[in-house]
Amino acid sequence: MREKEFKIFNDHLAMVLHKVESFSAIAAFSVRNGGQSPPPLDSLNFSTSQGDSLENVHSNFEHLAAHLNIDSSRIATCNQVHGDTVEVISSVPNSLPRADALVVAVPGIFPAIKTADCLPILLIDPVRKVSAAVHAGWRGSVLRITRKVVQLMVKWFGTEASDLIAALGPAIGPCCYEVDDTVLIPLRHDLPSSERFVTVNFSSTSDSIDSKKSHRLDIVGLNRFELISLGIPEGNIYSTGLCTSCRPDLFFSHRRDGILSGRHIAITGFRD
Ligand SMILES: [Zn+2]
Repeated sequence: MREKEFKIFNDHLAMVLHKVESFSAIAAFSVRNGGQSPPPLDSLNFSTSQGDSLENVHSNFEHLAAHLNIDSSRIATCNQVHGDTVEVISSVPNSLPRADALVVAVPGIFPAIKTADCLPILLIDPVRKVSAAVHAGWRGSVLRITRKVVQLMVKWFGTEASDLIAALGPAIGPCCYEVDDTVLIPLRHDLPSSERFVTVNFSSTSDSIDSKKSHRLDIVGLNRFELISLGIPEGNIYSTGLCTSCRPDLFFSHRRDGILSGRHIAITGFRD
């Protein structure tokens, strides 16, 4: 993991991958601080789905965009449904496409994904100036959304996997992400290689070991493995290495905070 490549701005608005700035690209993951949303969505929240006002969310977009030195009206989001639909866009759509990944080959348009435990992945092809934002929770991972995005970039835009830079944002870590059969059964069925990213924990105080067996999933490791298997060099894959659930000072967490959890945004793209 290459956590050192990420820097938190002085005002704590986002974690940014400075490496891509030399390509006129951005890769940024917002943190929860520095916005104007009130508790429990305090404060840099990017979704109205949990009852926040449009005014607050709009202000948060403006604030983060200004710090990234981009135009907030050029940030493209989508209606995320934990699926595997990948949408290629060349402008900011008037109505949100139903998708969990956006791919852009037009400089000045910035694809973005909202999360609150799921893994946001940003992909940058500095040679062809193509970028993608991917929402990879367990459902998206089972559906191989990361693979589909990379394959689409290769097919549509001639991306070479060896050129790609990947930034993996904050997500719930294997320290906290306990999963049951709802997750394990489809994961084992559709993605047998995922087993290495599942750890089994036994309670030592239990009379019946089975009744206290629990499983935890490393969603970052799983997707990192997928990226490497697609031919992306290990050295081109960066991760914040931070667990959303472990860090209430920095992140929202749906698992930790329940339905009234705010949403972060992960933004990438190339400047004009
Ligand atoms: Zn944790």
